[in-house]
Parts: sequence; structure tokens; C-alpha cells
Amino acid sequence: ALQERIHGTVLEINLNALRKNFTFYKSLLKPSTKTMIMVKAFAYGGGATEIAHHLEQLKADYLAVAYTDEGVSLRQEKIKLPIMVLNPVQESFGNLIKYDLEPVVYSLSFFRQLGEYCQSNATTIKVHLDLDTGMHRLGFGEEDLEALGTLLHQFPALQIASLYTHLAGADEALHEGYSKRQLAQFQSMCSTIKGFLGYAPLMHALNSAGIVRYPAHQLDMVRLGIGLYGIEVNGLHENALQPVSVLKTTISQIKHLKKGDTVGYSRKGTMDHDGKIATIAIGYADGYDRRFSNGTGQVLINGQKAPVIGNICMDMTMIDVTGMNVHEGDEVIIYGHGLSLKEQAKAIGTIPYELLTNISSRVKRVYY
Ligand code: PLP
Repeated sequence: ALQERIHGTVLEINLNALRKNFTFYKSLLKPSTKTMIMVKAFAYGGGATEIAHHLEQLKADYLAVAYTDEGVSLRQEKIKLPIMVLNPVQESFGNLIKYDLEPVVYSLSFFRQLGEYCQSNATTIKVHLDLDTGMHRLGFGEEDLEALGTLLHQFPALQIASLYTHLAGADEALHEGYSKRQLAQFQSMCSTIKGFLGYAPLMHALNSAGIVRYPAHQLDMVRLGIGLYGIEVNGLHENALQPVSVLKTTISQIKHLKKGDTVGYSRKGTMDHDGKIATIAIGYADGYDRRFSNGTGQVLINGQKAPVIGNICMDMTMIDVTGMNVHEGDEVIIYGHGLSLKEQAKAIGTIPYELLTNISSRVKRVYY
């Protein structure tokens, strides 16, 4: 039945595999540890609404998005779970309140702006405080804590739902010492803040890689992203996860070429043998990175790997299929099902996260 729905390029998402991955991570957690699931960036390319609905059924505790707009869309699609917004901007304060979204507050000035906004609108808001223990991206440092204490008293309209930090190197053993120092500093900063508050917000620090590497530090909640989508980033549980998404397309045309013929724009690809090429219905506008051009990327056709030849075009890519038994209309796997996303990412010097989140909105998502 799935085959009948396929036209051109699709991203197939296996919700059953996603459920199994969720169960796997839950098995590493204490029953009391909550799960916050990252559905930012269109749920890592998989489609935020469908995945959020599924996560509600799976009884995840929290969702997280990067921008307020992403949270607003989820609310408009009737998602009821609490939603943390990692990177809100001042212009979105009204929507945060209207749609019951919980922003991350990461600086003194931002705390004050939001506090003043809530005071003048006679409203309260749940917020999450980002504590910078070494990621050095956003967040309060040790040096901010005293002033933060003053603001917490001045603006009780900001109710602190959680305190969190983010590990800079949870995916590599090399950074274990650094991560442990981050976790220790986090504990100490949290004690100070709890002293100001007189109540205890949730504490959380671990992403997918951290859950596997530092289970003793799961605290009250973990923030699960890439692992849920089937990618094991630190190689410690390589076989425990189920692949969730497969990007596939079809062969539009097959051409027989002679040695020396060139293929595509700028004549970048040259046949070094008499043979045949297949033109497939995916290009950089679908998120198939142009750096895969001319031999760097590979695709899978009928279980066999075949290299890209020539430059990737906006909507099409040419593949050298010399010697292969392939036909127009055949299915072509771009990532997944025997063609490792990690390996493809590595070939162009990037990470699976980037390949997944770059799959563009015109690629149809199919759930099963
Ligand atoms: N927590 C924060 C603050 C993040 O920015 C992210 C993702 O970038 C995550 C958790 C989830 O990370 P991962 O996808 O590696 O599990």
C-alpha cells in the first residue's frame, strides 16, 4: 500500500521505529525521569505535527522547539503537551503567552524584558533558565547569579519551571572530564538558584548522547533528540536503535553514454567508460546537498550502491549505473535502508543532523 503512494521524492517515517527508540531510551531512565523531546526544526526533518501527536500518545512529558513560531504551529494543530521554546525573541512575547509556550530565559536583560512585559500585562509565565556551564552559547554564567537572585524576587511573574544546562561534548569519550565538570558546576549553580527561589524547579542536562554516557546524571528530565530519530551519535548503542526515516526517489530516465561524454552543468562529470547513467528526481532544492556532486555521494538502487556523476542540479541528480540492472521508475534510496546517513554525512564533512534538517518542505512526508 505504501508503494502506491510514492510519487517522486518522499521521506518515509516509520512511527513504529520511533516508538521503539523512545522505549529504548526510557529503558535507560528511572521511571520518575521525565522526557523532553526535541521537535524543533520540523522534528529534525520528520514533521513536527505528526511526530508531536505520536509523542503525546507515547506519553512524552515535554516538547521543545527553537522558535516561538514552531510552538504556535504545534498549538494550532492541537498539541497539548508543555512546550519549551529555546530561542524566543522579544517580538514573540505576546504569542508565548497566548499559546501557553514556555520560553528559555538565558540572560539578565532578557529576564528583565520578559518580567516587565508580564508585569505590564498582569500575567505570569512559566520559563526555563539556561545555565552556561561550558557550552558557551546562551545562558547565565556563575557571575550572573547574584543579579539573577535580585530579578527572581523582583519579577515573581516568571515562574521557573526548570533549570538546565547543555553539554558541549556528550558524544565523545574525549570530553568526559569536561562534561563531568559541567555537570558538577550545574549542580552548584542550581543549589544557589534554588536558595533564591524557595522551590525546586526540574533540573535537566542530558541530550541523546548524554543519556547513554552519563545515566547517573539524568536528574529530573532528559532532552532527547537525534536518538529518537534513529541516529546513535556516540556509537555506544549502535544496534539498539531502529532507523526511522528513509529518503527515497525514483529514476526518471536512463541514458547510454560513451567514454568522454560529459554530464550536467559545467560539464563537471565525465564518463571514463562507455556506460549508462540514471537521472533521479531529487536535487539540492530537496535538500540533497550539492557537495554530494561528482562521486562524493552514493545512492542505493536495487540493493546496489551507485555514485553521483556530475553536479547535483536543483531538482535532479545523475547517477552512474553502468553495468547495473536498473529501469526507469525504479526506486532509489538516498539515505537509510542500507545506506548509512552517518557515512553520507561524513563524506561531505557534516553530521546527520544537518542532512535530516535540510530535507526541504517540498519533499512529501509519508508516515507508516
Ligand atoms: N538540548 C538542547 C538545548 C539542544 O539544543 C538539543 C539539540 O540540539 C538537544 C538537547 C538534543 O540533542 P540531541 O539531538 O543530540 O539529542
